[in-house]
Amino acid sequence: MKGFAMLGINKVDWIEKDKPCCGVYDAIVRPLAISPCTSDIHTVFEGAIGDRHDMILGHEAVGEVVEVGSEVKDFKPGDRVVVPAITPDWRSLEVQRGFHQHSNGMLAGWKFSNFKDGVFAEFFHVNDADMNLAKLPEGMSLESAVMLCDMMTTGFHGAELAEIEMGSSTVVIGIGAVGLMAVSGAKLRGAGRIIAVGSRPLCIEAAKFYGANDIVNYRNGDIVDQIMNLTKGQGVDRVIMAGGGVETLEQAIKMVKPGGVVSNVNYHGSGESLPIPRVEWGCGMAHKSIRGGLCPGGRLRMEMLIDLVRYNRVDPSKLVTHVFHGFENVEKALLLMKDKPKDLIKPVVIVE
Ligand code: NAD
Ligand code: ZN
Repeated sequence: MKGFAMLGINKVDWIEKDKPCCGVYDAIVRPLAISPCTSDIHTVFEGAIGDRHDMILGHEAVGEVVEVGSEVKDFKPGDRVVVPAITPDWRSLEVQRGFHQHSNGMLAGWKFSNFKDGVFAEFFHVNDADMNLAKLPEGMSLESAVMLCDMMTTGFHGAELAEIEMGSSTVVIGIGAVGLMAVSGAKLRGAGRIIAVGSRPLCIEAAKFYGANDIVNYRNGDIVDQIMNLTKGQGVDRVIMAGGGVETLEQAIKMVKPGGVVSNVNYHGSGESLPIPRVEWGCGMAHKSIRGGLCPGGRLRMEMLIDLVRYNRVDPSKLVTHVFHGFENVEKALLLMKDKPKDLIKPVVIVE
């Protein structure tokens, strides 16, 4: 079969590989819609997870089941499914501890385009199909559904990690697709004032659509000053980091109130360490929590996100700015994600 792969750091191309084998609990799926992720860009062009050779990229897909193992009960060939980016080993101690994302090792629930071939292939393998696939409901578009696999679960996790309470004032730093879903998640959890930090007009418009009350442009000067001005020197209760470089942690800690929470879902792709500003962190005593996490995956998470879309709590289709038809356009879509033209939030490739 054909797949679009990372050959090494900074090198991508089409390759031929054997079709994956199906274990007794597993499924083989063919993609119907796929989307490249900014994380694929960090992986290939920043070497963020180290070198990988001939590894097929991609971890956002909606697909059709073509084969299931003998122990799979709830899925059969022909089923249309949403495939989460994170497909944990559900029989692991980390799951019992409550952190399925790290089943059998740190970040090891993230398998596609990390520890095994990803979804930019004619066929891909899903471990533990009954626990990791969700049925695509009738009437949900492929474009919307493929936003659930990673973008919605990650942005919403930003809001969950931030422990937003009714009325919490919240800043979201970075309003690409993940940050936009963090804005939406903050609103759904009952945030009061939501301030989005971004610059591109298209993203600003989308941030307002998803619930931002104020916009701060990081190109117009220091965002800490701007947010302190907007809040009359008080700062905010919660900050969600969903874009920008290592400097955003320092900014987030400076703008959050004592007792506040800084939540990170951004992928810090380079540098040895992240800076914590000593004084604004109360010399270590300000009760400012810093939390960061990989997005939740698995079947139940996808089913719950599907319900949020089905019952009109959120419309992810606003994230999709570019739609290509034909598997061969994966390459174009990935490179578009790298170049990030002004009119791009997320590209989707429809394969069927
Ligand atoms: P994106 O590149 O589309 O969005 C990031 C946005 O931040 C861009 O619009 C960019 O212009 C903006 N930005 C750049 N510098 C900034 C600054 N100084 N202040 C504020 N904004 C700034 O990426 P995305 O797809 O929305 O993903 C966001 C991040 O989340 C990426 O790093 C991605 O790898 C990561 N991610 C993490 C998980 C997870 O599980 N934790 C999952 C998916 C993606
Ligand atoms: Zn991703």
